[in-house]
Amino acid sequence: MSYYTVLLFGSQDLFERGDSLNRTILHVDMNSYYYSVEAMRNPELRGKAVIVGGSAEEHHGIVLAKSELAKRAGIKTGMVIWEAQLLCKDLIIVRPNYDQYLKYSRLARAIYARYTDLVEPFGMDECWLDVTGSRRLFGDGPTIAEDIRETVKRELGLTVSVGVSFCKSLAKLGSDMRKPDAVTVISRDDLQTKAWPAPVSDLLYCGPATTAKLARYGIKTIGALAQADSELIRRTLGVNGLYLQSCAQGNEKTPVAEIGYVAPIKSVGHGITCVSDLRNAEEVNKVILALSQDIGHRLRINGLLAGAVHVYVRGHNLAYSHTWDNLDYGTQLPCELAKAAFDIFRRCYDWRQPVRAITIQAGKLTPVAAPQQTTLFMDAAKHGKLSKLQDTIESVRSRFGKAALTYASLLGDIKMPDDGRDMVQMPGLMYR
Ligand SMILES: [Mg+2]
Repeated sequence: MSYYTVLLFGSQDLFERGDSLNRTILHVDMNSYYYSVEAMRNPELRGKAVIVGGSAEEHHGIVLAKSELAKRAGIKTGMVIWEAQLLCKDLIIVRPNYDQYLKYSRLARAIYARYTDLVEPFGMDECWLDVTGSRRLFGDGPTIAEDIRETVKRELGLTVSVGVSFCKSLAKLGSDMRKPDAVTVISRDDLQTKAWPAPVSDLLYCGPATTAKLARYGIKTIGALAQADSELIRRTLGVNGLYLQSCAQGNEKTPVAEIGYVAPIKSVGHGITCVSDLRNAEEVNKVILALSQDIGHRLRINGLLAGAVHVYVRGHNLAYSHTWDNLDYGTQLPCELAKAAFDIFRRCYDWRQPVRAITIQAGKLTPVAAPQQTTLFMDAAKHGKLSKLQDTIESVRSRFGKAALTYASLLGDIKMPDDGRDMVQMPGLMYR
């Protein structure tokens, strides 16, 4: 055993120059994050069935996070609170404290930064770390992972799961394999025994639609995807499929971004889980208009025009659908984005389920200064007037705040959480 260990470390030293073949990547995932922060601040919640969820008084709020006991009762993230209460009669409901979650997320990242300057966040509670260059100073991957796990627990009172591997996707797979409070190593040598038997849906970016398509060809495990004919994968899933296959084969080479890196903007999106289900087109239209305000504002401050609009809808049953459309001409006007999004929604949503969550995304972005393709059918005069109106709205808001000027239709209850931080991230919205 010790002979084997010496060999392993010996071979690592040969490549200790940060080449991409011999990277050491960690994925650190804070366990049941919102619930853990609440339980740390109020130890009475420990060992009980607890959910963190919006607006507990009106019990139409949504479950955002759950304790282990609540999970065992069958409660799932995204359920309505009254459904959760039916499953578990002693359920304790805690309102979310986002400022605390942001605070501990920052503190955890500060701990990771002691080991490397390559720290790439993925949501509030997950980060990738490239520690290839830190091994001489702090020890090998598993040693650093154990160190981080213990430090976060000691200093913050929170547990993390760490995956250690040679690429980002397998490190992420590792951190999901054993939790809470654990370290899982997937090396090149045990890729086939540890990763390949897992279902293909365990891979990051392998959502329900992709999983179903692969299943049609009998590809159900990560190993089956790794060994599948790449021409078949390309035909079925395109370049995204080939990317997934490279993850399964251990050939994925995506770098870990530096701390503070901001990716070039490819799309601007905003999504929300409503405080209760939307039951008709009028309610949906209001939420779309409200989301488009934010998207238009962000396009404006980044000097971008959208050439396409995507609409993601999550129904009451938590299934989601995605449709998109090209725009006739580039725009950053919230009312035009909202109109396009609502047209897409009306055309495609069948109302078999009331609507739980909506995300609008502006894509095919081009700089405002770039020459624009217009269309014969564009009402340029109207577009010009709306642009001027939007200029005025933006200047009033920049002086007196966002709430100073709004659409009359957005007054009253539009079923959106009022803190504006209840973002949902749906499959397909993640970039890489
Ligand atoms: Mg987590």
